[in-house]
Amino acid sequence: MVLVRDSQDAPPRDAVELTEVTKVHPGGVRALDGVTVGFGRGSFTAVMGPSGSGKSTLLHCAAGLDRPTSGRIVLAGQDIGALREPKLTSVRRAHVGFVFQSFNLVDALSVWDNVLLPQQFAGTKPDRAWAKELLARVGLAGREKARPGELSGGQQQRVALARALAGRPAVVFGDEPTGALDLSTGREVLALLRRFVDELGATMVMVTHDPAAAAWADRVVFLADGRIAGELHSPSADKVSARMMELTR
Ligand code: ADP
Ligand code: MG
Repeated sequence: MVLVRDSQDAPPRDAVELTEVTKVHPGGVRALDGVTVGFGRGSFTAVMGPSGSGKSTLLHCAAGLDRPTSGRIVLAGQDIGALREPKLTSVRRAHVGFVFQSFNLVDALSVWDNVLLPQQFAGTKPDRAWAKELLARVGLAGREKARPGELSGGQQQRVALARALAGRPAVVFGDEPTGALDLSTGREVLALLRRFVDELGATMVMVTHDPAAAAWADRVVFLADGRIAGELHSPSADKVSARMMELTR
């Protein structure tokens, strides 16, 4: 099974591509200042940087949750900078999955309904066989009827992972997806992210402040003061830590 359906004959190499993106927040803070970066299809990227360096703003702009002040953002082959609501929301729903630190499951719904919810919002026909396979892959086969409150934090995040992938998004964004988990549970979630990239061709972009988490990625992109401050390929936790020390000095 292949995760991403290609809608074009020659899909772009990058799932998301930002060119010279600047974001000035209301109040005048320049959170992003000429950021050019691409996230290759089937790759796993960690985004790191000191607090206030623009990580969340980058994620929100790349995901179509926020609009850049200037610059170009191409998501799944579409220039989303030019889009206004509600078109932006529909592109986001069709092409982006999210995993949050706080899981963000709907407590009143079963695991199964949580996984299918984004497709319902998107108005697409849910792919039940795929949802079932994803739940099996995250180790929750047979727990479809459970409520989130009956599950451990790690299990809830694994439901959120299945939910993020259920609509076969072009890219999954994670904002500190292991931030609320203990070390070994966090590692299980990271191993799943890694497997989704390696086995299903998923594209992952994960903000983290944890060098050990970043070391699961193919590449770490560093941000400082709203600008790209270098990257590391095949990162080790030690190299990531050293780089972060330089940036926060
Ligand atoms: P990070 O995630 O790296 O901590 P953010 O992207 O959250 O950084 O923030 C970058 C800068 O933009 C900070 O100075 C922050 O205070 C500012 N900022 C972020 N969001 C907003 C907003 N909605 N309104 C005004 N300023 C913001
Ligand atoms: Mg942030």
